[in-house]
Amino acid sequence: MSQTAYRTHHATDVTEDLVGQRVKLSGWVDRRRDHGGVAFIDLRDSSGVVQVVINDEEMARPLRSEFVVELEGTVRMRPEGNENPHMRTGKVEVEVESLDVLAKSDALPFQVSTVLANETEGKLPGEDVRLKYRYLDLRRPSMARNIKLRSDMMKAARTVLDEMGFTEVETPTMIKSTPEGARDFVVPARLVPGSWYALPQSPQLLKQLLMVAGVERYYQFARCYRDEDFRADRQPEFTQLDMEMAFVDQEDVMAMTERLIQAIWKAAGHDVQLPLPRITWQDAMDKYGSDKPDLRFGNPLVELTDYFKNTPFRVFQAPYVGAVLFKGGAATPRRQFDAWQDWAKQRGAKGLAYIVFGENGEIKGPVAKNISEEERNGLKAAVGAEDGDAVFFAAGAREASQMLLGAVRVELADRAGLLKPDDFAFTWVVDFPLFKKADDPDDDDVAVGHSKWTSMHHPFTMPSKDWLDTFDQDPEHAMSDSYDIVCNGNEMGGGSVRIHRDDIQDRVLEVLGIDEAEAQDKFGFLLEAFKYGAPPHAGIALGWDRTAAILSGSDSIRDVIAFPKAGGGRDPLTGAPAPISDEQRAETGVDYDPEDDE
Ligand code: ASP
Repeated sequence: MSQTAYRTHHATDVTEDLVGQRVKLSGWVDRRRDHGGVAFIDLRDSSGVVQVVINDEEMARPLRSEFVVELEGTVRMRPEGNENPHMRTGKVEVEVESLDVLAKSDALPFQVSTVLANETEGKLPGEDVRLKYRYLDLRRPSMARNIKLRSDMMKAARTVLDEMGFTEVETPTMIKSTPEGARDFVVPARLVPGSWYALPQSPQLLKQLLMVAGVERYYQFARCYRDEDFRADRQPEFTQLDMEMAFVDQEDVMAMTERLIQAIWKAAGHDVQLPLPRITWQDAMDKYGSDKPDLRFGNPLVELTDYFKNTPFRVFQAPYVGAVLFKGGAATPRRQFDAWQDWAKQRGAKGLAYIVFGENGEIKGPVAKNISEEERNGLKAAVGAEDGDAVFFAAGAREASQMLLGAVRVELADRAGLLKPDDFAFTWVVDFPLFKKADDPDDDDVAVGHSKWTSMHHPFTMPSKDWLDTFDQDPEHAMSDSYDIVCNGNEMGGGSVRIHRDDIQDRVLEVLGIDEAEAQDKFGFLLEAFKYGAPPHAGIALGWDRTAAILSGSDSIRDVIAFPKAGGGRDPLTGAPAPISDEQRAETGVDYDPEDDE
């Protein structure tokens, strides 16, 4: 499909097979080198790069980086010794006979050349500059690869979902609010002054309506919008691969998702062995101090609450005491242990107690003196340490302490170089609580409802079978039929079995403190739909940006989004968000006050 008015081939079509043939190519001047009257140009297009040779000085003289050219020439083998084994087109070159400059380029704000970009990847300008000139940033090969990979992933997903009987349905993005635990972005409705649409936080309610509508298997690459405070690596608008199925249970959704993941990874040349492992939410917290454990490495947390139950050390007289092993940590200089204290404080902890197991069974470190002789003797065995290791402790409230140790565990692995981006360790996390405390200061989700409880997932999540009768009597311990898919310590997606019975939905809403009137106002349309024969249904959504970032080995989701927002939701390229004119304010009715009508 290369052939157009401007070319007979793409750059990387030009290989030994075409030697002796005349070709017409178009693209950008990636790089130019001059050798005794001969100019060598790397010509780049969306496929990659091919070397072209210009013997005519007049023809070559005007060419600069990123000029757009169309040329014709003959393919020939490169002279011996000039091959480049790292390039697909490295054995050949095109001897140019005619050339047209289609567009010039100003001097660039930063280097984008395929070859040079690889050498200068570390010297990229700041992100605001990259985003302001995103169309140049996207010319860099690593970015171009990400954009292409994202497209390949979408294609693989669509193919396998189609094979599994899914129908792609688009749902509107100007809707009534869907509660997913964030603030809504809103759009003024000019035709109904004083009224607003919400942009969807997810198509959750709409996909449930599709189940009532009999679609049975739905998917969509859905754009979602959540107005959250700035958090690293979040975008105010993002994409989900959103799915819902009728007449299925949790196992069915998980099996379908596994097949999907396998197909997506295959598109990038990776084999994923199924079934994927599973861990309960409680085990994930106990062993890894995280509800999205990174399983590329081991080193689970060790609980020592019992071990220290009679301790004389006040700090360890806590509801939870745990530890994480720092293999070989005894050799760490004191100032580095001090730096760990600062690291912990930055995360809101008071500090990070540690002990060092020196040679000959010696136990050192600031807290060593606080623990009894007996405790010291058994400690090495209790934490699985050897001489030469160190161990970090956390004591206090169970979850907070575990999360601190979980973060230490990952930080240690990172510093030891164990977090390889092309190792993919998946796990399902299952058996989540149904509710969580609404006033948790560490949780910046917006509580749904007005009670002391809010939904762990969302208000439409089914309590697990064992809790169907009692979840509202014991919201603290009630469990749900929900599941997250995790890869390399990232939550790639999550979903749940939904409530399709209005009596259960009513009881959940009651726990959340959402009364009848509010429920009617917010999602009465869904509750009404459930009166007309709602099938049992369940679903899941994959965070598509995150999935692409993991698979491409990108550090940030911004690297897999063509035009992402910078910090604070700004777009340095177009200047959004921007003030609107007085006329537009009046027209859209954003300042409308019903009292003015009276
Ligand atoms: N709507 C959910 C979310 O955005 C996903 C799901 O339950 O399917 O997290």
